[in-house]
Amino acid sequence: MKDRVIDWVNKKEVEIKAMYHYLHEHAEISWEEHHTTAFICKQLDLLDIPYKTFSDQTGAVGYWGNNRTGPTIGVRTDIDALWQNVDGVWKANHSCGHDAHMTIVLFTLKCLKELGVQPRGMIKSFFQPAEETGGGALSFINKNLLDDVDYLLGLHLRPIQEMRHNEASPAIYHGAAASFKGRVFGLQAHAARHHLGINVIDSITAINTAIRAIPLNPIIPASAKMTFIQGGGKSFNIIPDYAEFGIDARAQTNEAMNDLIDKLKRSIYHAGEANGAKVELELLSEMPAAQKDNAMEEAVAGSIKEVLGKKGLVPPPVTPGGEDFHFYAKKLKNLHSTMIGLGTDLKPGLHHPKMSFELDSLLNGIKIMALSVMRLNEFTADEI
Ligand SMILES: [Zn+2]
Ligand SMILES: [Zn+2]
Repeated sequence: MKDRVIDWVNKKEVEIKAMYHYLHEHAEISWEEHHTTAFICKQLDLLDIPYKTFSDQTGAVGYWGNNRTGPTIGVRTDIDALWQNVDGVWKANHSCGHDAHMTIVLFTLKCLKELGVQPRGMIKSFFQPAEETGGGALSFINKNLLDDVDYLLGLHLRPIQEMRHNEASPAIYHGAAASFKGRVFGLQAHAARHHLGINVIDSITAINTAIRAIPLNPIIPASAKMTFIQGGGKSFNIIPDYAEFGIDARAQTNEAMNDLIDKLKRSIYHAGEANGAKVELELLSEMPAAQKDNAMEEAVAGSIKEVLGKKGLVPPPVTPGGEDFHFYAKKLKNLHSTMIGLGTDLKPGLHHPKMSFELDSLLNGIKIMALSVMRLNEFTADEI
């Protein structure tokens, strides 16, 4: 079967690249992927796979199989692009490779269909919007779309610094990320009589000093830093009574992030309010870290070796970047999941307006994903 998959994909090279180019040319930003969703539905129609769309948001879910005797396997792709300046023009731009991910998932389904693979249970395809906002995966979780999924596969292109074209990893160890917005309320006074006021700039500098001094476990990469400050008015002779600040926090594991968030809150409130100011803190966004799933990694590693040989199987990269895919594992306790890292010689980097990669890697992605789905299709629902 391995040879049939590889042959099939090689023969479809022109179609695969054409779909990628089409999706690349029709980029849409998070929550506005209307044309993209319609395109996906058209492809699912052509494959004769029933699907569901939503009246309140973009994205789609394909349902292939009858769920009778085997596991429910999920294949997930993100579908959104970024809004960025490309050669002086602001536009939606697929610089995170989600156009490639969609192409890989759609051709994985096509390959399995045309080769006559039958889902023993169900193959559910998740075309998830708004990954870049961190809200897309949560929207699917809140709609209970993944409650019956046993095994979930995702995939992301990797930059050249992490792995090369014709290499792939059975997981990507993304770190956890969180951002906070803070508001500080003080008391105005004449600058000559500052003892009568409460200076919010003093609060903010105290907060910055306190968070830079948080003791973190040196074994686990983690950081917290102030990334935004706004305060004061137009008069330089008035003690300012209002300011806002922003903080970005990163940690390589969810446990380290929980610890960091506790320490951040304590430092911010204590340091910021030491002079009598009042501090409000709001958690703006949170992205969980990857959780290692040995059995899923083993299954995918087997497929990578079949496609790229032993040399092509590389260890999962540890990366400080965030990915909302990991909400699925965090929120759905019985779910087994992993995100395949695909080597693509991508340069200069993800989210760069001129990001480019080796298009032949699309073929590797489809082969690895198709063979991985076939492996999981042989498992029972609770085998791993
Ligand atoms: Zn991205
Ligand atoms: Zn991405």
